[in-house]
Amino acid sequence: MLASLTSASPGISNRHRHVEPAVGAAPLIDAWGRCHTYLRLSVTPACNLNCIYCRPRHAVRSPHLELLAVPEMIRLVKVFAQAGITKVRLTGGEPLLHPRILDLIADLKAIDGLQTLGLTTNSVLLGRSARALKQAGLSALNVSLDTLKPDRFERITGQPVFFKVRESIDQALQAGFASLKLNVVVIGGVNDDEVLDFVEFTRHRPIQVRFIEHMPFTANSWRPASLVSGRVLCEQILRRYPLVPAPEDTAPSGTARVFQVEGFAGTVGFIDALTNRFCSQCNRLRLLADGSLKTCLFRRPEVNLRPALRAGASDGRLTQMIRAAVSGKLPQHPSLDELVRQPQSMFNIGG
Ligand code: SAM
Repeated sequence: MLASLTSASPGISNRHRHVEPAVGAAPLIDAWGRCHTYLRLSVTPACNLNCIYCRPRHAVRSPHLELLAVPEMIRLVKVFAQAGITKVRLTGGEPLLHPRILDLIADLKAIDGLQTLGLTTNSVLLGRSARALKQAGLSALNVSLDTLKPDRFERITGQPVFFKVRESIDQALQAGFASLKLNVVVIGGVNDDEVLDFVEFTRHRPIQVRFIEHMPFTANSWRPASLVSGRVLCEQILRRYPLVPAPEDTAPSGTARVFQVEGFAGTVGFIDALTNRFCSQCNRLRLLADGSLKTCLFRRPEVNLRPALRAGASDGRLTQMIRAAVSGKLPQHPSLDELVRQPQSMFNIGG
């Protein structure tokens, strides 16, 4: 059992090659046969937390970016949807800081072909707006919470708002989000002693706790010792809990291996971006708040769509630019050695 649960996922999966885009659209397929149906849209680089692994206070330099306006985001998402994108996730920075987030969600919801509209948030502002977000049309919510200890929360994020965030998870459940995921970035020596507590957190809550490997970005305190692999976590959990593979319908697309403790309401996922690359299954594109398009989390943007958009480019021209970027997508992200040297910040990308 242990071997099967902790072994690496199969290298090449055909799962995404069979995902068909919306009827009538030519799919965004790259040179390696990967079909792109998922867009992550960063709506702002601004954030209200200073997480040590993402946007550490000492490292924050606010780049003076010219940002997409809401109608521009909507126009671009429509173009992506015509090219086969069926799922959009709003991220940031902190997306709930965007003053027009509810309007944006409502307008995106109306776009033909989009089946899933998600959002990833640190939950500081989630609380009572969970219901409004649901009503505006959000279908999937991911919240980030790396510790269940209030004092540790403040050390990690720089803000004493643990109880607000913790409470917002229950408020999101009450608002009726059927797909609620909790992202935990596991950092060796910081919060890796809480893994079993997070598994216990799924006993009565129908949520998916996802353990994410700490990835190196500029000045984000990454060291080799801070990387705790999903395999090590899985072995630690198996010493206490019998994990079984989660039912297929709770498994997300490609990135996480998902299990369940029998009898628990929720599930547990492992996102092993560094130790178990899932590049062969990657179906994602990333549109940054300034209009830059990235085909790989760990590589520089291929193109910025904003100037062409503002110069009056047609949908066809924008689609061409997107296709050119997708066709140049490399088969894998860079090695860990290269990543450590790259100047990039997660809060500018959106995860
Ligand atoms: N502010 C929102 C939030 O906190 O969820 C959305 C943006 S945040 C950049 C998106 C996701 O990226 C979060 O779940 C966060 O934990 C994750 N993330 C940020 N830096 C990371 C790192 N160095 N390694 C792994 N995950 C990281």
